[in-house]
Amino acid sequence: MDIRTIRTWAEIDLDALEHNYRALRASLPKSCGFVGLVKANAYGHGAVPVAKKLEALGAEMLAVACGSEGEELRRSGITAPILCLGNTLPCCAHLLLEHNITQAVGDLDTARALSQAAVQADKNLNIHIKLDTGMSRLGFFWNPNGDNTEVMNELSELFSLPNLTVQGMFTHFADADSNEEYSMAQLTRFLDARDALTARGLNPGLLHCGASAATLNFPCTHMDLARPGIALYGYYPTPEMQGLLEDDLHPVMTLKSRICAVRSLPAGTSVSYGCTATLTRDSRLAVLPIGYGDGFPRSLSNQMKVRIHDTLCPIVGRVCMDMCMVDVTDLPQTAVGDVATIYGGDLALQAAQLDHTIVYELLCDVAPRVPRIYFQQGAPLPD
Ligand SMILES: *Cc1c(COP(=O)(O)O)cnc(C)c1O
Repeated sequence: MDIRTIRTWAEIDLDALEHNYRALRASLPKSCGFVGLVKANAYGHGAVPVAKKLEALGAEMLAVACGSEGEELRRSGITAPILCLGNTLPCCAHLLLEHNITQAVGDLDTARALSQAAVQADKNLNIHIKLDTGMSRLGFFWNPNGDNTEVMNELSELFSLPNLTVQGMFTHFADADSNEEYSMAQLTRFLDARDALTARGLNPGLLHCGASAATLNFPCTHMDLARPGIALYGYYPTPEMQGLLEDDLHPVMTLKSRICAVRSLPAGTSVSYGCTATLTRDSRLAVLPIGYGDGFPRSLSNQMKVRIHDTLCPIVGRVCMDMCMVDVTDLPQTAVGDVATIYGGDLALQAAQLDHTIVYELLCDVAPRVPRIYFQQGAPLPD
């Protein structure tokens, strides 16, 4: 694809991905494997090229949110183990079986149904047990204050189900960005469950619990596998965590848009839907072909600045579905065809702050109509 012909695109720097992968691995013990998180289209970066890169780098496992995401990877030729973190309904079990996807299982009914589907297909399904230690999302609930006999009986039954093989057990932290006490209580429950299983002669296999925040904040959570997602894409779970890695992270995505018009308008003119902005001086406005239809949040209207010729230029008026306007009065050299950087460097973080969200959401929101262009060793990868 010729970038000169594209209105708005996302550059995906596979060298930055490799750098982040290596920086994270360097912070883990040698015995700790790496789960490459490629759910939600690899946080908006494109699941297949990212998964291929991670597989080539030696990630022991990839993780997706649902069976169809796993299927997409298998159809592209990925052979590494794939763990499906979300719940799969029995009606979709064939996807897991057909494509050899490992499934997280967090309740006995699902385990029974998956076992039945596996028996019918005459196949084996690998699973990781999901424990709920305080996130209250999915998983066998481990009660810190009560009796866990019932959940232990359920887990014993799960181990005995035909055509299911327990290969691992994991949990997920609710507040590992900042809450050490809560995280350590979750970790204790996880280890208590492991001990109770071991005491019954049941082997939970590979143990894992840390996403990016716990992996960076709490080395005691590094077990058999680590599951950092956002850090792989170059961002800390919260900006305050910057500096926790010896080698800093590099953002992988740069979102760019090509100026499609530059217009001179007199002072007093109002701009865009709702007339929320009025020019206070004779101005030049660049029209950028990016809007909320591209995943660029409308809430950034009159708020965000984008980078043009190394200068931050403010968005004027409302962000439309397909376009927005930027003040380039102070950059007289700006012309049609020049490129604006929308997210890149700290801009995605600034956008997240202004949008009252986290950078995860903005990356995931970059719309399918925005082509992803992959770069390796500084050059675009062939399509
Ligand atoms: C998304 C997810 C991760 C990765 O989280 P980050 O905060 O992006 O590192 C890890 N584990 C589970 C279960 C997840 O759903």
